[in-house]
Amino acid sequence: MTALTLETDVLQNFIDGKWVDVENTTAVTNPANGERIVQVPLSNRYHVEEAVKAAKKAQKNWALVPAPQRAEVLYRVGMIMKDKKERLSRLLTMENGKVLEEARGEVQEGIDMAFYMAGEGRRLFGQTTPAELKDKFAMSQRCPVGVVGIITPWNFPIAIATWKSFPAIVAGNAVIWKPATETPIMAYELAKIFEEAGLPNGVINVVFGKGSEVGDSMVQNEDIRVISFTGSNDTGRNIASDCGKQLKKVSLEMGGKNAVIVMDDADLDLAVEGILWSAFGTSGQRCTACSRVIVHHKVKKILEERLLAAMDHLTIGNGLEEGIKVGPIINEAGLNKIKKYIEVGKQEGATLLAGGSEWESNNQGYYFTPTLFTDAKPDMRIAQEEIFGPVVSLIEVSSFEEAIEVNNQVTYGLSSSIFTRDINRVFKAQRDLDTGIVYVNAGTTGAEIHLPFGGTKGTGNGHRDSGVQALDVFTEWKAIYVDY
Ligand code: NAP
Repeated sequence: MTALTLETDVLQNFIDGKWVDVENTTAVTNPANGERIVQVPLSNRYHVEEAVKAAKKAQKNWALVPAPQRAEVLYRVGMIMKDKKERLSRLLTMENGKVLEEARGEVQEGIDMAFYMAGEGRRLFGQTTPAELKDKFAMSQRCPVGVVGIITPWNFPIAIATWKSFPAIVAGNAVIWKPATETPIMAYELAKIFEEAGLPNGVINVVFGKGSEVGDSMVQNEDIRVISFTGSNDTGRNIASDCGKQLKKVSLEMGGKNAVIVMDDADLDLAVEGILWSAFGTSGQRCTACSRVIVHHKVKKILEERLLAAMDHLTIGNGLEEGIKVGPIINEAGLNKIKKYIEVGKQEGATLLAGGSEWESNNQGYYFTPTLFTDAKPDMRIAQEEIFGPVVSLIEVSSFEEAIEVNNQVTYGLSSSIFTRDINRVFKAQRDLDTGIVYVNAGTTGAEIHLPFGGTKGTGNGHRDSGVQALDVFTEWKAIYVDY
């Protein structure tokens, strides 16, 4: 499959149901080989304003469409995505680099979300409650917020967009979506799917361009009443501060420093499998990636040996090729950041057991070898900061209590996991691990869309993507009293 299947060499914005040319563009390249795939628009403030005008107009009518009918559009979106699953997955691998198997999993999450949120359109429950006074009826209902802005990252270019846009749309909002400039193809494809599914003009508008221009214009635009952002911590905090000044609702999903805890009674085969998948899948470029292994001293040595043996089988290369387990890093900046952390880890005194260097491809791709540090200390930077690459650090502990303490000693709070056969430890861990997601006897990744997704502490501001809780971001409650 080549770029030709995109039907265009230059992407366009999708505003008010029309495909709109933008004068300035930049090249999108395949991280696996550096080849140019397509040109993406570099839109500006004017394009955001045009999109907002269209969205405001469209939203008024969309909110009047009964929710079950809004849901039917999402159902059709899900059916089309299902038909196009293989095409979407291959294009996703091409623009993002993740291996095809993972790309298929990501597209499937989007399909699941379409059907799940289509179901929510038939519920959108409010409450009736007994009134204090006689001859009075009291109830509450969810109302759309209006025009909402969603800003998405490159590492899950389709799943995260569906986690945000589907609940927004089913709840009766109109959406302005700014995808990451690195990965615009999924946005282009999804906009085409919305069009084919019959979503009325202006209910979703895609504006391509840089975060500093398009994203910032969305944040500053007072007609956009919600910003739902997933991305890095620094960007998210700045957005939150700007939204705060306008009393604009903002949902933030940011970084993680996720740990797998391996206790002395763990099934080590299972633990190795869980660590491998969650540390090196998507080349460690997941918010939920395992980047710390907190291991009981009794099993540290054997876990190291088994991990090293298993890591030998991790084939690196272009994710479209059969049998490849670890794809490229998104770009040169990402690669340089990983290299910097390898030096930091060495200087801090951690022991490099495997990897630690660039993988030389025979083309222009950016690859890094799966890397294992051991003897890391909880306060080292490699054990505290998000690296966003295939790098994992082992930290030795001598008790369950210490493992929980070390897990919680980071500023992030997204995902954690514990491998143990002890049911008491399982229940204590799910209570005491200070993260939004807890796994038992599985790695730190693999969330499903039926449950709320998001983290505590520095990972976010309390909102959730996916699950019925996602509707809270895109609705406001209205209390209604009827005297009779
Ligand atoms: P990023 O640089 O913050 O970018 C995220 C999005 O924000 C992109 O669309 C970007 O646009 C845009 N943006 C950049 N500057 C902006 C500004 N000043 N105003 C408004 N928007 C702006 O993050 P990333 O490198 O793409 O993504 C990786 C990060 O996302 C990691 O920290 C990862 O942990 C986190 N993440 C979190 C979750 C979660 O659910 N918790 C899930 C996935 C990823 P351009 O890049 O196009 O300029």
